Amino acid sequence: MLDFVRFMFRMGMKRFDTVGDLCRFGANLRLVCYCGHVGVIDRDELHFVYMRRHWPSNLPTVVARLKCSRCGQPPRDWSPTPRAATHKIGPTVWEHRMRRDAEASRASDEP
Ligand SMILES: [Zn+2]
Repeated sequence: MLDFVRFMFRMGMKRFDTVGDLCRFGANLRLVCYCGHVGVIDRDELHFVYMRRHWPSNLPTVVARLKCSRCGQPPRDWSPTPRAATHKIGPTVWEHRMRRDAEASRASDEP
């Protein structure tokens, strides 16, 4: 709990406008749905999803396009959080690159 207070103190001075801000400050994204479902998603996975879908990087826009895994509605509220992700929404940018590189090296082995 003390860690959380420290985090909020540190975060209080900062603004979260884009997905890049989450990455820069090491925060994940906590989402609250109308149905009461609460989830935390990993910043790197969010980064990959928004890049791949060519969404704008600003957080309110990205959040509005996410859907609740339980009822399918977009989130009612969101906030940056120091907590670990509770829901996986896809690979991280890093995981995607590793996979792509592995596929590329396999393809180049073929005659
Ligand atoms: Zn929901």
